[in-house]
Amino acid sequence: MDGLSTSFDLAVANKSFDGISADNCEVTHLMFADDLLVFGYATTANANTLNSILKDFASVTGLKKKLFTVSWKNTCTPKQNDGLGIPSIDYLYHNYACSIIWRFLNSNSLLFYWWRAKYYSLWNFTSANKAPYWDLLCKKASCIRNCISFSITPSSNLSVIWDPWCGGNSIADYLKASNSITNYSSYFSWKVSNIILRDNWNLPQFFESHISFIIKAVPISSLAENHFWVGKQNPVFVDLYKQFYCNWSKVPWYKYVWHKHHALRYSVYVWLAFKDGLKTSEFLAKRGINTAAKCCFCHDDTETISHLFFECSFTFAIAKYFLPWLNVLLMRPNLHQLYNSIFEQRSLAHSRNYHLLTSSAIIYFLWRARNDRIFGGYALKNLVYACRDEYVMKILGNLQILLDCQVAWMSIFERTMMIADSYQLPLGWSTWQPGALILFWPIRENDPYRQQRAI
Ligand SMILES: [Zn+2]
Repeated sequence: MDGLSTSFDLAVANKSFDGISADNCEVTHLMFADDLLVFGYATTANANTLNSILKDFASVTGLKKKLFTVSWKNTCTPKQNDGLGIPSIDYLYHNYACSIIWRFLNSNSLLFYWWRAKYYSLWNFTSANKAPYWDLLCKKASCIRNCISFSITPSSNLSVIWDPWCGGNSIADYLKASNSITNYSSYFSWKVSNIILRDNWNLPQFFESHISFIIKAVPISSLAENHFWVGKQNPVFVDLYKQFYCNWSKVPWYKYVWHKHHALRYSVYVWLAFKDGLKTSEFLAKRGINTAAKCCFCHDDTETISHLFFECSFTFAIAKYFLPWLNVLLMRPNLHQLYNSIFEQRSLAHSRNYHLLTSSAIIYFLWRARNDRIFGGYALKNLVYACRDEYVMKILGNLQILLDCQVAWMSIFERTMMIADSYQLPLGWSTWQPGALILFWPIRENDPYRQQRAI
């Protein structure tokens, strides 16, 4: 692995690979255990260099690396907005900035005291020579001002002129509209507590009547200072996160993929299926890559996502086996309709989650079986597999009945994958995962349990 690392360093030195850099610091790759993450610009030159480095590495070590490319735009969005829920850098900036702004408004520390003395307020748009970090906080404060409702108390630290405590606006906003803000320069550093005397407004004579009227309309609370973030007194990270993504549209299918007790291994494939990310023949043809266009299961129709899941007679038969109510459908469902039918059953939550997990497992194993038939050379042995499939269905159908029982549900299904694995090993084959119920063995040539599964 050191050799691989050196190859990247050499490529950077030869200027044949551009990593991500800031000043003199350039990052090209990160290694952890047997994982390698490569950082670089999405250019053809970088892709060629990366390919060449991996080829050299494979020829020297005999290890083959699978190359995955991901789109940050698709992955760094919340799950309900069709992403994978990985936080983006912008989102992290937002949350940390909002967190600091909230603490600035609600607590005192030496740093906040110093900021107030130097800049008066986060909404002071006249301050010059701002530190970059303070500037970032001001920009964020300007974006989120409508999220905060201020409470006014006799000891309030808020800025009279700059903070938006008058019904969502600041006095500066009103003065800016009448172009008279410079007349109030001597009050720029004043705090709200300076214009309150014994729980009543005590405004300077200088304040114009319309400004006084606006201020006097704001109630003074005799309770402790109590600002609100979108109706919440103590916002947590999730509340800040919701505000960041409030204008993003949600996808209706996220509840199908990320249900309670979902298995990441299966759900990622379902997510890909919903996003048209599984590389079917139809998809590859659009990119100019020609593969066998026919479905490898029925050899009848063009291979598309909607055909594979579940318009294909073969895959639909499997879906019907595990989701019996599908038998009453007059037409074969697509992916959305199949998942929708699970919710239409109005069953208890644990039963619904079981069916969702089963469907996800079906998709995962079908995709693997499809790849094995196309790339693994199993296509000619269909007859043998068909016999074995029948046997598997018979045996594992009994297991499904077992799983449907509440006791079995509690004792088997709700265990963690790790515990389940520990049961799985002595048994010799997968009995605990609903997805394993449709495993078309042997999927892998070097399957360690293959011999034990022999009929
Ligand atoms: Zn088919």
